[in-house]
Amino acid sequence: MDCPACSGPTIAFAVPADLREYLPGDDPGAALCTTCLELHPVADPPADPPEFAHVSDVFPDGEAAIPFALLVGLVDSLAQYRSELTALLERVERAGADPLLALDRLADDPSVDAAADLRRRRHQLEQLL
Ligand SMILES: [Zn+2]
Repeated sequence: MDCPACSGPTIAFAVPADLREYLPGDDPGAALCTTCLELHPVADPPADPPEFAHVSDVFPDGEAAIPFALLVGLVDSLAQYRSELTALLERVERAGADPLLALDRLADDPSVDAAADLRRRRHQLEQLL
């Protein structure tokens, strides 16, 4: 699907059961826009995980990818999803990636044009840790 916000390409992925509580709504999957980084619910996600490197070379891979994708999708609603974001930060760290460093790198990546102010949000996230 194309991003409803900016018409850019998205990558869809299934959200594992243990992360689904962090995804707003009842859908089993989500699609992350590779341009504006907005997250959209997906009712019928593909079984295989996508290449998150299509979003950015600096996107964390492996176990850290999906919690980081959810984090990026929720970060612009920080006040509303404070507890979810705190948990997701921990999940990304536990998977061996540095979520704040990854956000910094995304903010620096010219291939993304995030709708959220990643730098400002990164500093706010830092306060949650
Ligand atoms: Zn978009």
